[in-house]
Amino acid sequence: MTPPVIPLAENMEKGAGVRSKRYICSHCKQVNQPHTVCHNCGYYRGKQVITVER
Ligand SMILES: [Zn+2]
Repeated sequence: MTPPVIPLAENMEKGAGVRSKRYICSHCKQVNQPHTVCHNCGYYRGKQVITVER
């Protein structure tokens, strides 16, 4: 019995499949992954959901 291991490459592949649909943050105009909180300003869909320390 071996524990299920999800290879990193598999996760990367899923991300690469949507690379044409990049999400531009409406707050700071940074390019982010879609459906992901902006790592630059902490905004997601026009609302600040996390506080980003500068
Ligand atoms: Zn942003």
